[in-house]
Amino acid sequence: SVPLSFFGGLGAASSHGILLKGSNYLESMASLSTVVFDKTGTLTTGKFKVTDIEVVTGSKEELLKLAAYGEYHSNHPIALSVKEAYGESLDKTMIGHVEETAGFGIRSELFLDGETREISVGNMRLMEQLSISVPENQSVIGTTLYVSEGTTYLGSITISDTVREDVPIALKGLKRAGVKKLVMLTGDKPEVGQAVGKALGLDEVHGGLLPGDKVHKVEELLKNQPEGTMLAFVGDGINDAPVLARADVGIAMGGIGSDAAVEAADIVIMTDEPSKLTDIILIARKTMKIVK
Ligand code: ADP
Ligand code: MG
Repeated sequence: SVPLSFFGGLGAASSHGILLKGSNYLESMASLSTVVFDKTGTLTTGKFKVTDIEVVTGSKEELLKLAAYGEYHSNHPIALSVKEAYGESLDKTMIGHVEETAGFGIRSELFLDGETREISVGNMRLMEQLSISVPENQSVIGTTLYVSEGTTYLGSITISDTVREDVPIALKGLKRAGVKKLVMLTGDKPEVGQAVGKALGLDEVHGGLLPGDKVHKVEELLKNQPEGTMLAFVGDGINDAPVLARADVGIAMGGIGSDAAVEAADIVIMTDEPSKLTDIILIARKTMKIVK
């Protein structure tokens, strides 16, 4: 049976906008030593601004339109940002077959101006997979999306994200609460990951990871955990359901990208404030003291 004070702990958490799927997660949160974060939409807002558009032929407006249509069916923060930057409403009847690959990008069949066009929008990995050569001289800062039609490279859109306001306070709070190691995993370019990690003073950063690589990284970290301590993974649920499920405690946060994330998570933070993580630890410790 569950001791009565656990219900007090769960109630206290829920009044903070935190849902725990079981009282056992309070126990785990009381002895957390490692917190692993996903980058996009978790440590950053996921609301990217377009900082540069380069085109081979045609106008920048046309490239942005193709990218917005190409991203029609995606709810990745990058896709939402591109559609927002385009600004016009999109005609659903222009979209055909779509294939999105986590950590790569998206390929869509579009019916534009009486033609069927195969548009791909994604990172360098996607372009390499499609054997599309991309000209050099790409900007190092920001996340660059490459757009191609069939096997023809059309141009690039560079977008840039900002760290959530609440994050520096959240990270300090976690360290003060005794968390030893703060780690960030990202599918974004390693350079972008390193820049964010350095700005935030994280202990470890690993970039260029596919969803499966994130699971392997967490497994590696789990092997090196100090005896009797727990590891939490915090993500927004876009492309990270498998790693949420693998951690000792999987925490979904930040508007919650997908139903799969809510399902895979052990704890759901209803707001987009990572500082709630420290609140959970403190509630957990208090509850455990009462229980013991
Ligand atoms: P993170 O680990 O930072 O949360 P993801 O694993 O979700 O990032 O995505 C990794 C990378 O894959 C992105 O930085 C982007 O280059 C590419 N990508 C994923 N989904 C899309 C998409 N819908 N459109 C364009 N690029 C995408
Ligand atoms: Mg993500």
